[in-house]
Amino acid sequence: MERISDIARMQERVGEIRAAGRRIGFVPTMGYLHEGHLSLVREAQKRADVIIMSIFVNPTQFGPEEDFERYPRDLDRDSALAAQEGVDIIFAPAAEDMYPEGFLTTVSVARITSLLCGSSRPGHFDGVTTVCMKLFQIVRPHIAVFGQKDYQQSLVIRTMVRDLNLNLEIVTAPIVREPDGLALSSRNKYLSAEERVRALALSASLRQAEAAIQQGERRAAVIAADVRNHIEGEGGTIDYITVADPYTLQPLETIGRHVLIALAVFVGKTRLIDNVLVETA
Ligand code: AMP
Repeated sequence: MERISDIARMQERVGEIRAAGRRIGFVPTMGYLHEGHLSLVREAQKRADVIIMSIFVNPTQFGPEEDFERYPRDLDRDSALAAQEGVDIIFAPAAEDMYPEGFLTTVSVARITSLLCGSSRPGHFDGVTTVCMKLFQIVRPHIAVFGQKDYQQSLVIRTMVRDLNLNLEIVTAPIVREPDGLALSSRNKYLSAEERVRALALSASLRQAEAAIQQGERRAAVIAADVRNHIEGEGGTIDYITVADPYTLQPLETIGRHVLIALAVFVGKTRLIDNVLVETA
């Protein structure tokens, strides 16, 4: 496996790979890899010949009070895991090279970025779309794989790709969970043993909500209140819960054929997200 940090070098390698007629599959991450990230690599391998994974803790998608500084980083551990999984190239640029003096450009998707995580993390999605646009220009992938764990992010990226006619396919891969339901996240590392138990309320409440919908409940407010009570009962502090249209992210009153239930919850100081897409019969 190759490890590249230089942007020009990465572009040169991409040129060679493309000239050889090989398809590039891209998995963008912030590192501290877990099975969720590795599942994206396997999805990419099904659809491409050469797998490039970026590892970049992108400063511009963190708010001033957020965890950019203490976000877990371990490039050697990540390289070993990625190599084991068959990643061909890790691209890990330096922040100073991605955002040199005089960097002035932002790529911004409207409307769907002001809801959910966008309302509690202003500017977050501008950071995400701008860095993804840059990474797509550098890596020039044929396909890029994102996780449903960050449902809104995936939707925002798909929207950018469609609106700006980017010539790549976005694949969204299912959420990988611990056996007890907790969605894998690099931020789970922050949880104490006791918080780890309380964090189960996120996935458990979503499972209950899904079951209630499958049993015929169609009132979004009832579903949202049940999820809220469940999580607050376990000591979580809710950032948001939404029962929304999966395409517009607008809150629903009455649940129709497709619904997204998404939430962000503080367990202690750690903000966790989870979601479920429910299709009714
Ligand atoms: P991150 O390193 O947290 O920015 O995540 C990089 C990519 O991995 C994003 O597309 C995430 O949605 C995806 N991802 C993170 N956690 C999971 C998970 N538990 N299951 C599936 N994909 C995930």
